[in-house]
Amino acid sequence: MKRIVILGGGESGAGAAVLAKKQGFDVFLSDLSEIKPEYKALLNKYEIIWEEKQHTEGLILNANEVIKSPGIPDKAPMIKKLHALGIPIISEIEFAGRYTQAKMICITGSNGKTTTTMLVYHILKNAGLNVGLAGNVGQSLALQVAVDSFDYYVVELSSFQLDGMTEFKADIAILLNITPDHLDRYEYNFQNYVDSKFRITQNQTAEDAFIFWENDPVIKAELAKRNIQSAMYPFAIERTEKTKAFIENDDLIIKTIKSLFTMPTTELALQGMHNTYNSMAAGLAASIVNVRKESIRQSMQDFQGVEHRLEYVATVKNIRFINDSKATNVNSCWYALQSMKTPVVLILGGTDKGNDYSEIEALVHDKVKALIFMGLDNSPLHKFFDGKVSKITDVQSIEDAVTTAYEMASDGDTVLLSPCCASFDLFKSYEDRGKQFKACVRNL
Ligand code: ADP
Repeated sequence: MKRIVILGGGESGAGAAVLAKKQGFDVFLSDLSEIKPEYKALLNKYEIIWEEKQHTEGLILNANEVIKSPGIPDKAPMIKKLHALGIPIISEIEFAGRYTQAKMICITGSNGKTTTTMLVYHILKNAGLNVGLAGNVGQSLALQVAVDSFDYYVVELSSFQLDGMTEFKADIAILLNITPDHLDRYEYNFQNYVDSKFRITQNQTAEDAFIFWENDPVIKAELAKRNIQSAMYPFAIERTEKTKAFIENDDLIIKTIKSLFTMPTTELALQGMHNTYNSMAAGLAASIVNVRKESIRQSMQDFQGVEHRLEYVATVKNIRFINDSKATNVNSCWYALQSMKTPVVLILGGTDKGNDYSEIEALVHDKVKALIFMGLDNSPLHKFFDGKVSKITDVQSIEDAVTTAYEMASDGDTVLLSPCCASFDLFKSYEDRGKQFKACVRNL
């Protein structure tokens, strides 16, 4: 019997284990850390053998195939051993894709994945389609393939998931943008990361759709090098001959098969330039699966947004507080600053992934009156910003960040948490950071 070993017992690993078990394989799951109680319960329910806080080599290196959690880097010792033995390593999405005929709408990019994924899902669900939400958001694709029977899946794919995909095909692929991120996992070679993102188009034929941002310089250069077979759906702010979605006279316009979809940008639930891109991409995907125009319009109007993404928290003494904790790289902070209409007190910092802050330098110069550095090691931030902004303060906790920001801000200003960095030095996750920020603001 084929032996499938799953490394990592989180959402994707536990889901993959259930699907593998249901398919009749010999299944074993191993996690170097502790497995959360809910996943242990799921594994036990399906009588799956598992271990935690260790990797027992004898039970892993005899696998015919390994499903690796996207969180485990290629340089992990066990992964190196598996590679040396020539044992195939795939991602949970690749595995799940083998056992479903559902149409796959897959979203990747450096920024905007979750927002766009949630918006596409919202539009399709409201239109009455039988649709599941998977990938980095919602339940794992594998678990849904094991226990549900959806006709469509909207799947958020990180570059790490794409790395473990070879045969999988997206019926509709969305590539929002490519800017440097996670370079620590790509040997500090940007091209490796770009190649990983372009895996979203692999195996696509002329029957499949590829939606992408036409003006992204990285995507543009890459398209010139590649011979992609998919039907192309570029979107951009300005209309060109090929553009399938664009803005004209403050209207968002989508060229559908038969006619034009038009909607005033002021009516979009998601505001800000970056979100207009996300709405264009989502609207294109919905029109490709033939959702009616009226239904797309309604859903793009009443979408609620996603927590920790430019999320409005509260206004205290006429100072607005915005939680953009999910801005874990410089580019997403750029869009946040770009959409600000008042002077800003900006909270930055955390685990620096090799950031280049010059991208936000001009916007910081124009809009930011004070910077607060919140991290265990703020030296990269000081190195870049010292002398460029008159007020800079260091803090080591979210409470201090919020009270200091509140003191530094004046009537009409905005306090923005958009840290450019991962959160793991002081917090469990970006969600934890955002939730604590909101709690502190509400205590002011
Ligand atoms: P991801 O899932 O790719 O990390 P999110 O939707 O969670 O993307 O948003 C992450 C951050 O990027 C947020 O700060 C958000 O405001 C910002 N953002 C959202 N869409 C875009 C976009 N199209 N381009 C740049 N930044 C974006």
